Amino acid sequence: MPEIYNSTELRRELHPMAELGFDVARTADFVLAKLRALGIEASRIGDTNGVLAVIRGREPGPVLLLRSDMDALPFTEDGRTVAVHACGHDAHMAMMLETASRLAGRIRRGTLKILFQPAEELLTGALRMIREGVVDDVDIALGAHIRPIQDLPPGKVCAGVTYNAFAFPVVRFLGRIAHGSRPQLGVNAIEAAAAAVFAVNAIHLTPDSHWTVVPSRIRVEGPMNVVPPLCTMQFDIRARENAVMKELLDKFERAVQGAASSVGAKAEVELGSVGPAAEYDPEIHAELEDCIRSALGPEALAPDCGGGSEDFFFFKSHKPSIRTGYLGIGVGAVPGLHDRNMHFDDTLLPMGPRVMTAFVLRHLG
Ligand SMILES: [Zn+2]
Ligand SMILES: [Zn+2]
Repeated sequence: MPEIYNSTELRRELHPMAELGFDVARTADFVLAKLRALGIEASRIGDTNGVLAVIRGREPGPVLLLRSDMDALPFTEDGRTVAVHACGHDAHMAMMLETASRLAGRIRRGTLKILFQPAEELLTGALRMIREGVVDDVDIALGAHIRPIQDLPPGKVCAGVTYNAFAFPVVRFLGRIAHGSRPQLGVNAIEAAAAAVFAVNAIHLTPDSHWTVVPSRIRVEGPMNVVPPLCTMQFDIRARENAVMKELLDKFERAVQGAASSVGAKAEVELGSVGPAAEYDPEIHAELEDCIRSALGPEALAPDCGGGSEDFFFFKSHKPSIRTGYLGIGVGAVPGLHDRNMHFDDTLLPMGPRVMTAFVLRHLG
């Protein structure tokens, strides 16, 4: 029998190994070694540091994907950049490795794929995994994330995290340069950007929808004594539902274009990739609730909670037939995710593997 890993201990090994984006080579080596020690077939994905483990059953059946993220967040300390696992991705890898150790040799039918995905914080890692073909044969995909204490009390687990759709469009406001003392001869790109801030604040959608539009960056270059011809602005846009996001982006573009033309400027909108909101299969959600109750006791089950965004849902927008589920793990994370000093009770991590093991065995055992 292979060894059963302990996610608390694994997380403590992974925590100091924090790496950024796609540059997670040491982390990938660690994960590969732990998987191979269990006798599980595992390899890097293409030329990335993503890792895929595959356990095949003897009988035909569905392909179930468990997905963990791998990357940490950058912070500046004494003038240099340091990587810190401030979003708990060390915990997710640890939980997936413990789950793998609990499932080795127990997959009877179908295929279990366990994906360790880089660059979640950049919101580009999942798209890269899709291009590498990782989800082409997947029928069911399950993710998990530790939750801040504001979302879930310690010791509670929920069967759905209400992640929002996201977009970070960049808008270039194009005016016309003129001497600062003769503004009547120019078109001021800053005035176009200012008008756009007010215009997007006048967007209205149905009051029972959840969404935000935040101007998040602004840049103007050139000397101080001219009417600036170019101002670049970025916006952070979120919506709870994909249909709301679509309507919001249409109105956003119209607001920005109208604001620019109101001062005689033009606006070029570069939308970038639009990340989908969480969409869960109701059957999978109910099964996960069952698994939480059976593996941890009925008092452990909490209602769905939410916040933030996740690139996991690109898998479903790429292949809509994938049935998705997502566990929120209450470990008492404070003061909040992405805080430099984020910490939590990692002795609660084994809750995740117990629920995931029950779920996988239900489909592939
Ligand atoms: Zn994060
Ligand atoms: Zn995260």
